Amino acid sequence: MSPVAIVTGASKGIGAAIAITLAKDGYNVVVNYNGNQTLAEEVKAKCDAYTPSVVVQGNVSKAEDCARIVACAITSFNGLDVLVNNAGITKDNLLLRMSEDEYDAVLDTNLKGTWMMSKASLKYLMKCAGSIVNISSVVGRMGNAGQTNYAASKAGVIGFTQSLAKEVASRNVRVNAIAPGFIESDMTLKLNEDQTSQMLSRIPLARFGSAQDVADLVSFLVSAKSRYITGQTIGVDGGMVM
Ligand code: NAP
Repeated sequence: MSPVAIVTGASKGIGAAIAITLAKDGYNVVVNYNGNQTLAEEVKAKCDAYTPSVVVQGNVSKAEDCARIVACAITSFNGLDVLVNNAGITKDNLLLRMSEDEYDAVLDTNLKGTWMMSKASLKYLMKCAGSIVNISSVVGRMGNAGQTNYAASKAGVIGFTQSLAKEVASRNVRVNAIAPGFIESDMTLKLNEDQTSQMLSRIPLARFGSAQDVADLVSFLVSAKSRYITGQTIGVDGGMVM
């Protein structure tokens, strides 16, 4: 029987690359999306080329949706081995201008969503010595002006990862986080030449990362090759934080 993985926010970007990579590794993937059903179906088709997958809509900031996403893994594939908490949003603003709604939306999705998805998944992960990978950010380690909400959520994900890793290590469940730096995305493609060269000057490897760079680390962190690694936050940032 194939192992089973849930990837939240898998309709595009880093989550899509993670879903397809895990399918290539032999996982039945539960491809979660929130609004982009068409894109999620395209990701499912790419996963299905390797291992059968399923698509499920669900907003990770809602507890009932988290329960439904996990139930989808169990009813579709009869178990759960891996949870990747990737779904994330930004709502940037300077603190003095940031609304409570902008703060709540980012914390509810990025941090509370990670907490709720992990809580809903844990009893299944404990049955099979499974693992969790949480997608944090370089911003959760070094901060970024205009992103107090996002930085707090991503720093929270690191503390959550360490605490849960300590709670469940005795059950052989491993919990790790990845802190991506600047990953090529719709956002980075929109930058002008000046902004691009300014950003590149802060990256020792002098290039942006790709979604595949992050997906390859997820593939390692959920595999037996990383069996002695838990509670860690690993940067995929070209050396920005060291
Ligand atoms: P993206 O392209 O904007 O994709 C975000 C994904 O999250 C989409 O699939 C979206 O689904 C989903 N999503 C958003 N809110 C959701 C919710 N409430 N419930 C379920 N799914 C939800 O983002 P990305 O750049 O790939 O980033 C993925 C993760 O990496 C995020 O956690 C982000 O913070 C982190 N990260 C990214 C970078 C970077 O440079 N790109 C750097 C550091 C960290 P729909 O489109 O279907 O709504």
